[in-house]
Amino acid sequence: MSACPTGCGRSVTLGNLMCAPCWHRVPRELQTPVWVAWRQLNKAVTRGLDERAIRTLKREHAEARAAAIEHAKACVVQRELFA
Ligand SMILES: [Zn+2]
Repeated sequence: MSACPTGCGRSVTLGNLMCAPCWHRVPRELQTPVWVAWRQLNKAVTRGLDERAIRTLKREHAEARAAAIEHAKACVVQRELFA
């Protein structure tokens, strides 16, 4: 278990990007790219695609994750401000 990257104070199960309440605040248009990039990356690794292709997919996945975390972080800040 590690701390949720949004700073909400909850912990995250290993393998998850963030805790469930934070993830549910992320809109679908930001969630979908995370899933898509993750699936593509897994497929590429399984099929043994070349390192450059995998690097590109890893970057796309990291960017999609960062966008989702950014959004969830903003939600946490808002909640603190308006609590
Ligand atoms: Zn959280």
